[in-house]
Amino acid sequence: MASKVILVTGGTGLVGKAIEKVAKEEARSDEKWVFVSSKDANLESEADTLALFEKHKPTHVIHLAAMVGGLFRNLAYNLDFFRSNMKINDNVLYSCYKYKVEKCVSCLSTCIFPDKTTYPIDETMIHNGPPHDSNFGYSYAKRMIDVMNKGYNIQHNCKFTSVIPTNVFGPYDNFNLEEGHVIPGLINKVYCSKKENKPFVIWGTGSPRRQFIYSLDLARLFMWVLREYDEISPIILSVGEEDEVSIKEAAEMVVEAHEFKGEVVLDTSKSDGQFKKTANNGKLRKYLPDFQFTPIKQAIKETVDWFIENYDTARK
Ligand code: NAP
Ligand code: GDP
Repeated sequence: MASKVILVTGGTGLVGKAIEKVAKEEARSDEKWVFVSSKDANLESEADTLALFEKHKPTHVIHLAAMVGGLFRNLAYNLDFFRSNMKINDNVLYSCYKYKVEKCVSCLSTCIFPDKTTYPIDETMIHNGPPHDSNFGYSYAKRMIDVMNKGYNIQHNCKFTSVIPTNVFGPYDNFNLEEGHVIPGLINKVYCSKKENKPFVIWGTGSPRRQFIYSLDLARLFMWVLREYDEISPIILSVGEEDEVSIKEAAEMVVEAHEFKGEVVLDTSKSDGQFKKTANNGKLRKYLPDFQFTPIKQAIKETVDWFIENYDTARK
């Protein structure tokens, strides 16, 4: 019988689906994995969250559930991002405490770091100044996870920690143009441009820079954090600084993967958001010097192929 019950909140999203795949590949007989979505419990409700924990009695939790979105959804709904994520995070961590969960790993993001900062950013700098104005609601709510982790550890000796991924992409992403992040947005737009023989429009100047991580690489790192990482303070899960690319370069890779031959234009009336948020993965590299990230071109190609194959059911 499994001695560990690992509950994954947000288990049906981009990151959750990747963890589900890797957990199957790396299956261990003492682990039972439970992947839940908002249909199993609305985590904004304390009663529903406690009922979920009562039902599954998890020993471990990977907490992914969140109101999530790209730049344009954040710009429109900062207040909703703050309120929804504050409620979800408070309910999940409180339930972890109540049900004596041995370890909880939550998810922050590099976009919550201070806007005015020195680069590269590292784990010690999360609270050093206001986040970028475009996503202040999401950022402050996420930062409070780190505050709660510290509080639960000091007051109740809980082992609640967090990871800080950079921009994630992969199968099961949200390809909706208004809601989603840049790579799924570009993939969907090139698909439509190719089908309708229309120019492909990149939003903004194309010059902002991002470190992208493939969801399946992130999932493998999540497994390691759950099983091996012993600190309460967060750890950045990112490719190296040298692997940062511009939005324009990312768009070119999407064009190549789709074999799109049409016109490519920039719509500079659209926001660029944060120019960069270059993160240092030195802490991760100290623990895992040999971890191999999937080359970005290959990861984008796999994601484009997945999108085309699953076009009818993909979120868009
Ligand atoms: P996603 O694909 O949008 O999935 C979100 C998940 O959260 C879904 O399973 C969703 O369930 C669940 N959820 C949302 N609201 C909920 C609620 N009120 N109650 C219960 N479940 C709820 O998001 P993702 O990209 O996988 O993100 C996972 C985590 O990674 C998040 O914490 C996010 O902040 C973090 N992160 C993401 C990125 C990125 O680039 N995507 C970067 C850094 C960090 P339904 O399917 O039922 O709606
Ligand atoms: P961020 O990394 O948190 O800013 O969020 P996104 O993943 O949404 O990336 C936003 C960056 O990509 C900005 O510089 C946008 O101008 C640019 N971008 C270009 N085309 C698109 C698109 O189709 N969708 C999105 N979300 N961003 C785009």
